[in-house]
Amino acid sequence: APRVGVLALQGDVREHVAVLAALGAETALVRTPAQLAEVDGLVLPGGESSVIDKLARIFGLREPIIARIGAGMPVYGTCAGLILLADRILDGLPSQLPFGGLDIDARRNAFGSQVDSFEADLAVPVLGEPPVHATFIRAPAVERVGPAVRPLAAVDGRVVAVEQGALLATAFHPEVGGELRFHRRFLDRVAHVSGA
Ligand code: GLN
Repeated sequence: APRVGVLALQGDVREHVAVLAALGAETALVRTPAQLAEVDGLVLPGGESSVIDKLARIFGLREPIIARIGAGMPVYGTCAGLILLADRILDGLPSQLPFGGLDIDARRNAFGSQVDSFEADLAVPVLGEPPVHATFIRAPAVERVGPAVRPLAAVDGRVVAVEQGALLATAFHPEVGGELRFHRRFLDRVAHVSGA
């Protein structure tokens, strides 16, 4: 069976592990290059993207993660994870780097301090009915979408979920609200790519 990892440097790691386990996946925490080498797909959790980036460099994971993304490993990023998958970060910290892979520009904290956090029911056509009850917490928005990127959902005209090849990203947190369909989509991709 394919095995999926959750990057466990900072952020809401446990929530992702719980959703993946509820879907029957074999999960592993990833904190080292050796652990990364043993997984067929990776979740980048929500948290603080600049901290996750910094720790990934300290733990020697940045280059291996970039290499796996380039080799087609399925990755699902939520919120900070979306920022980490963006080719370009807007309003990032000066030292902050993404892993990249998604041909998008992601603006950090795009919804402003007045509405730090909010919930919304989103139509996500690729997932069908019912709409996704989405939790946004200091969420980014996707401001530029390259030609190979498929926007999956928007709120107030701003793209908040995208897919490109084996990469899936949402600006919100399905893992905190019992929404399983994004993780199932990710796991289907992992099974397909790993041939299991
Ligand atoms: N604002 C955070 C960042 O810049 C993301 C918040 C989240 O993951 N909920 O990384």
